[in-house]
Amino acid sequence: MTDRARLLEGLDPQQRAAVTAPRGPVCVLAGAGTGKTRTITHRIAHLVQRGLVVPQQVLAVTFTARAAGEMRTRLRGLGADGVQAQTFHAAAFRQLRYFWPRVLGEELWSLVEHKFRLVAQAAGRLGLSTDSDAVRDLASEIEWAKASLLTPERYPDAAARRGRDCPVPTESFVRLFEGYERAKNAAKVLDFDDLLLHTAAMLEDSPEVAEEFRARYRTFVVDEYQDVTPLQQRVLDVWLGGRDDLTVVGDANQTIYSFAGAEPRWLTEFPSRYPKAEVVRLERDYRSTPQVVGLANRVIAAGGAADTSTGLTLVGQRPDGPAPGFEEYDNEAAEAAGLARAVARLAGEGVPLSEMAVLYRINAQSEVYEQALAEAEIPYQIRGGERFFARTEVRRAMSALRAAANGARREDTELPSRVREVLAEVGLTGTAPTGGTARERWQSLNALAELADELFATEPEADLPRYVAELDTRAAAQHPPTMEGVTLASLHAAKGLEWDAVFLVGLVEGALPIQHAQGDESSVAEERRLFYVGVTRARRHLRMSWALSRGKGGGRRRRPSRFLAGLASGAAGNARRGDRAGAGTRRRSAAARCRLCSAELTSEAEMRTGRCADCPSDADEELLTRLRSWRRERARQLRVPAYVVFPDST
Ligand code: ATP
Ligand code: MG
Repeated sequence: MTDRARLLEGLDPQQRAAVTAPRGPVCVLAGAGTGKTRTITHRIAHLVQRGLVVPQQVLAVTFTARAAGEMRTRLRGLGADGVQAQTFHAAAFRQLRYFWPRVLGEELWSLVEHKFRLVAQAAGRLGLSTDSDAVRDLASEIEWAKASLLTPERYPDAAARRGRDCPVPTESFVRLFEGYERAKNAAKVLDFDDLLLHTAAMLEDSPEVAEEFRARYRTFVVDEYQDVTPLQQRVLDVWLGGRDDLTVVGDANQTIYSFAGAEPRWLTEFPSRYPKAEVVRLERDYRSTPQVVGLANRVIAAGGAADTSTGLTLVGQRPDGPAPGFEEYDNEAAEAAGLARAVARLAGEGVPLSEMAVLYRINAQSEVYEQALAEAEIPYQIRGGERFFARTEVRRAMSALRAAANGARREDTELPSRVREVLAEVGLTGTAPTGGTARERWQSLNALAELADELFATEPEADLPRYVAELDTRAAAQHPPTMEGVTLASLHAAKGLEWDAVFLVGLVEGALPIQHAQGDESSVAEERRLFYVGVTRARRHLRMSWALSRGKGGGRRRRPSRFLAGLASGAAGNARRGDRAGAGTRRRSAAARCRLCSAELTSEAEMRTGRCADCPSDADEELLTRLRSWRRERARQLRVPAYVVFPDST
């Protein structure tokens, strides 16, 4: 079989049509798991193989750095090494590093390290609240404005037209936005959106730069196109400069960034924008079992699909698998313990931990699940959280690498070995220590080393400064390198990815849909799409769970997510009550909790003493002291706030 035939093998007729279409506009509109990402990878490789494009002239844009990395690996496997597969931001960053010094005669400004601090200072000067939630809201509104191509002056009209709920009076926001931009420019730093704005501006304002760029890149591919923002679209337009060699793929039902300015209309209007476009629709779902696919179809049907032009119903192609599970628990701790048991059970059945993901709506939800996994000694890694780059050893490693990059000589660039030398200085040993925090530290340093290998494999000319720049980009994007263990991620961070087993946790009203979406129809619709994204990440095992109250002290009662209704929910009465055999699932009783360990109290005797039967009595003073210090130590080991295992009451 020829290489070209091999490339087309394993594609269905619709996928093949998109892969073999001549250079020019191509649009694939299709649901989750239908092979959109696979189609674009094969299309690039096919164009390369037929000699129609040179790999170095292809720029493929994907949504996450991990997806970009996977695409580079797959392209290499298909014989198309050298294609630039990047996120919009990484691609822009790379271009700015090259063009900025030439146009402006100075080094590229660095990425802002303390964005919230700048926003808080600007807010403080205007007498606005500087508490962290308020600052976060203001920063998001600035991001939305920039992603929507709004200057401070244009913000008020546009925001009013789109019914934005500005966190402060519009006039104050305009002044804050101006103050933030001024402070940032004075400090000569760039935020994430600036990377795109400056890239667009540089190509628009400098014909030589535009010409050089356009001579270099001739073929463009965009994955997850339903979530493109006006700012990204503008960058794409200046990249193209009127040319039309552009392939886009997307699924309007997976639009999950419209809160941040994304607009699926660029995808749905593509065929009218490019009347000559080859438009392909895919329906066969190759990712998930019919059981998962059926559930995904019901989720979308219940919400009314966002895009009626695509095939609405996915048709599962894989063999049958287990029915999706629905598990209801009394409290979060019990839910988390149930999760840990389910993970352990699947691991026992041979599903690798790296093939499992725990997905939640917001990163703040992760703690209780982390704790349960850590207690069960199940390794996990968090994606998209701030934690990886905030870890002490990672920060130390990055400053050591930066120092080495500043002093790098030409002959240093055997990149991976140089990176390992520097990492060895900050504690990376040859073999992994067993267990505990030492192992966690080793894992994160090792992940940095493996990232150097990965970079070197895709860009053999990469040197230490390039590697450090890659780390900076990842740190800014909160995109940690891959590590072993169960993946914990927010639903947003999971898009485009797949695992054998997916655990959707914390499915309660207020989390999904999230509190601030309630009451707004279009926001609730976006939350439902997020749920659809979560469901469709699972290849085989899908388990959804929720708890009827928060952990410590019982707290407010919660209701299962409305999106579960009709699928299986507590409200509908057909959810399984969470596995009651395990620890931590004792029935709630008038919200009474042990004042030592905060376990729920189950007997009258326990309630009289205010302690559960597992905790020592007043007489055991010495034991009590030991218990307290044990809990403090345990909290330290688990890297959780002490109150999690050491209640306030003691
Ligand atoms: P999403 O919308 O979630 O991004 P997608 O449409 O991009 O999904 P892919 O990730 O490309 O889907 O493919 C889903 C899975 O199905 C992958 O594991 C892929 O390898 C597999 N797949 C795609 N097409 C085929 C095919 N024709 N035959 C067998 N497997 C396929
Ligand atoms: Mg995809």
